Amino acid sequence: MIKLELKRVFVMLEIVDYLQKQKGEMLQALRVLTKKESPSYEKHLVDKCGKKLVEIVNQYVDGRTEIIENHSFGNQLRLELGEGEEQILVLGHLDTVWPQGTLKQMPFGIVGDKAFGPGVFDMKAGLVQGIFALHALQTFQVPIKKKVVFLVTTDEEIGSSSSRAIIESEAKRSKYVLVLEPAATPRGELKTARKGVGAFQIKITGQAAHAGIEPEKGISAIEELAKQILYLHDLTDLQKGTTVNIGMIQGGIATNVIAAHAEAELDVRIERPEEMKRVVPLIEGLSPTQEGLTIEVSGAVTRPPMEKTPEIEKMFFKAKEIAKTYLDLDLEDQLSGGGSDGSITAQYAPTLDGLGAVGDGSHADHEHIIISQMPVRSALLALLIKELGEQPIRKNA
Ligand SMILES: [Zn+2]
Repeated sequence: MIKLELKRVFVMLEIVDYLQKQKGEMLQALRVLTKKESPSYEKHLVDKCGKKLVEIVNQYVDGRTEIIENHSFGNQLRLELGEGEEQILVLGHLDTVWPQGTLKQMPFGIVGDKAFGPGVFDMKAGLVQGIFALHALQTFQVPIKKKVVFLVTTDEEIGSSSSRAIIESEAKRSKYVLVLEPAATPRGELKTARKGVGAFQIKITGQAAHAGIEPEKGISAIEELAKQILYLHDLTDLQKGTTVNIGMIQGGIATNVIAAHAEAELDVRIERPEEMKRVVPLIEGLSPTQEGLTIEVSGAVTRPPMEKTPEIEKMFFKAKEIAKTYLDLDLEDQLSGGGSDGSITAQYAPTLDGLGAVGDGSHADHEHIIISQMPVRSALLALLIKELGEQPIRKNA
């Protein structure tokens, strides 16, 4: 028994050590993926980046690769390895928020221990770490009693409308889901809860009139929008973790015309499921404050809140224990104000998110990752897959 335990510890340490030695190759793979831009709406670009991803996967992992064709957005990748009735899903996305041509102003570059470039942090480094984690498990022939599915989607940054069905069906089949989104802070925290996210568009139609000659004939859509904005912002309840923000407005055609049209874009974030029931119907049911006006509301909650369930907590403690024992790391967790595909999978299977790169500047000009953390995070993922794959989590873990 002691011999077996020693062997287990030895393999774990070997994986950590091996991945340290792969740092150069991991960085090279990140360079290749970053140099192929992959904005969500540009299918032809995402597919070119996807081809590179498949090459990297085939170079390092021996598995069953399937390209899931998509007409509107980039093709998606599903890689399956191992056998077993139960499944572990490792989830990532290839698309980035950066438009075509960003590389010209924001080229891939290395400064000290940081690698910069569009999408390095969210989440191309995470994908590389995922591939190398699987590579390390195969290199050491770690027996995994569960099937491992690595799914890479291509529309996460724009709400996952076309990949949602695939994500849901894989999550339903999975015992655990591990998401390669970036760590919550530069200290590397995992994400064990996420706010739900919704986006709504509000269109108000009033009655145009000359503002000087016959103002009494006009009904201002802008005035109405102003009232509705105050009402909507009042739905915010910071203590409950609910925020409503109108981030964009437009309307009117000239200063001397009473505006017949006004529009607004609304972002809503909800931490608690019961707040969904309070806030969403109020947004959807907006009604005009006077006759002669119409209000149209479109949009939806694209990602439900992800709650930190006891199962998620157990997964986190398992990761924390691995980090402490084998990586000498004090791993913490956090609630994230942003949604991800982890919010979707958490509805069906316990999900640990934020397992990807450590760095900073997601969706910002200073986006970067910490290079020396790539092998560390890859090892964390590999060991977590190994442990979750081998045995159920102990009840008292
Ligand atoms: Zn992301």
